Parts: sequence; C-alpha cells; structure tokens
Amino acid sequence: MAGEPQADCLFCKIVAGDVPATVVRETETTVAFRDINPQAPTHVLVIPKVHYPDAASLAAAEPKVAADVLREAGEVATEEKSESYRIVFNTGSGAGQTVFHAHAHVLGGRGLQWPPG
Ligand code: 5GP
Ligand code: ZN
Repeated sequence: MAGEPQADCLFCKIVAGDVPATVVRETETTVAFRDINPQAPTHVLVIPKVHYPDAASLAAAEPKVAADVLREAGEVATEEKSESYRIVFNTGSGAGQTVFHAHAHVLGGRGLQWPPG
C-alpha cells in the first residue's frame, strides 16, 4: 500500500529505530536527523515517516505530510540559528538522489553558492 514501510529502505529503518541516527527533532509524521556526510555546518535531513520515493510523490499522495516536512525544515533552521539556509529535494539519480525515500536536506551555517552545481 502507498506510504507503507519498505523492508529495503534505509530511511524506513531509521524511522523504525532499526538503524541509529542523530535525531534532532521528531513529530507524529516526521523525523529530522543529521546527515552522516555533512556538506555544511548544518546539514539535517527531514523525512516523512511514511515511505514515498521522492518529495513530489509524497506531496501528491499526502499533501499535509509534505507540508509537515517543510515546516519542520524551517524549525530545524531556527533551532540551528541559521537565518539563511537552503532546502533541497534531490529527485532522480541524475540530480544526486541516492536514497529513494523522500527527504529534505536543510543546509546552513555557511555561505551557499547560487546557482548550485
Ligand atoms: P540524497 O543523495 O538521496 O539526496 O541524500 C541522501 C543523504 O543521506 C546523503 O546526503 C547521505 O550522506 C545521507 N545518508 C546516507 N546514509 C545515511 C545514514 O545511514 N545515516 C544518515 N544520517 N545519513 C545517511
Ligand atoms: Zn522508506
């Protein structure tokens, strides 16, 4: 069924507590944890607890949860005292997506180039 946990999904395992993560925030619908390979002083991933392969499919199926992810991304930036920050949803392997469970990267704590690579 759409949104159900996937046995082979790393982020579903983090949601279940089967893979450890440095969790910074958790809500009924989301988990935020530090990226294992940070690209900035603040690099936190915000994920929905439900499994969808990318942000757009999450938004299409469960728009309230997609909004929860965005709101939590803002809360993370506030907690990290990042006034300027970037929210990134890599979508598709050509754009660098490696984990096919929707996630927002929250990047901050340093100057960020625009346009990105
Ligand atoms: P993507 O490349 O799909 O946009 O982002 C996946 C992110 O997950 C990468 O930035 C990668 O460093 C991070 N990541 C991969 N495996 C783990 C893990 O086991 N724990 C944590 N905390 N982050 C991970
Ligand atoms: Zn998953």
